[in-house]
Amino acid sequence: TQSKRTRLIAGNWKMNNDVAEAAKLADELAEALNEVPAGVEVVVCPPTIDITTVHDRIQAAPVKLGAQNVYWEEKGAYTGESSCAMLKSAGCTYCIIGHSERRDYFKETDADENKKAKALIAAGIVPIFCCGESLETREAGEHVAFVTGQIKAGLEGVEIKSGDELVIAYEPIWAIGTGKTATADDAQEVCGAIRATLVEIFGQEIADGIRVLYGGSAKPENIAGFLAKEDVDGALVGGASLKADSFSAMVEKA
Ligand code: PGA
Repeated sequence: TQSKRTRLIAGNWKMNNDVAEAAKLADELAEALNEVPAGVEVVVCPPTIDITTVHDRIQAAPVKLGAQNVYWEEKGAYTGESSCAMLKSAGCTYCIIGHSERRDYFKETDADENKKAKALIAAGIVPIFCCGESLETREAGEHVAFVTGQIKAGLEGVEIKSGDELVIAYEPIWAIGTGKTATADDAQEVCGAIRATLVEIFGQEIADGIRVLYGGSAKPENIAGFLAKEDVDGALVGGASLKADSFSAMVEKA
């Protein structure tokens, strides 16, 4: 079923591919995705060091560029960080924030994600705002409350004029990189609750335009089941985005 929203398939390369490997994969993607189906948008999010290389190689293809991280300050003494303006100047139109790996390993908080979301939106870059529960939280039956809590905290005071300015990715932590996927019904339960929360925050019209993605061991074999669900508008793809054939197969199925 084709939803009213443009589908979005986003690849999160994580910390994979040096410059030469990134160039090779970008060339393969540019070729495999020289045409994408109508109503589908494609984004790749390489490591920061590879962004410029990938940008130059995908220019002719209908593939957009995203970053995996950003810092909210404008410039200055923030060793190791990149600003919104820097990402923009490198051609990024999307940026992943709030990924569970950032929250767990780098101790990012909801307040950090909130500052990142506001800075990106102000700069005209679309945040791909990640949320998702641990196995423990799911087993306690608290996954919906936990995830909607992340959305409320992370998006507090965020203002947008249209649903195109924000993307949400629901990624249950227990399904990331584990080969263990949520069922399509699990994804719909939480993505539906996310949509309801977005309606509370932004009103119906804007919330109807915000893409909500599923992520966590998404692959060519299971993507159609997720996309058949009313509130699932695409996928954030880790492992399967590292091979041009599997990533392009997912775009074909979207
Ligand atoms: P995975 O990662 O597809 O490898 O599970 C998804 C993600 O963490 O964005």
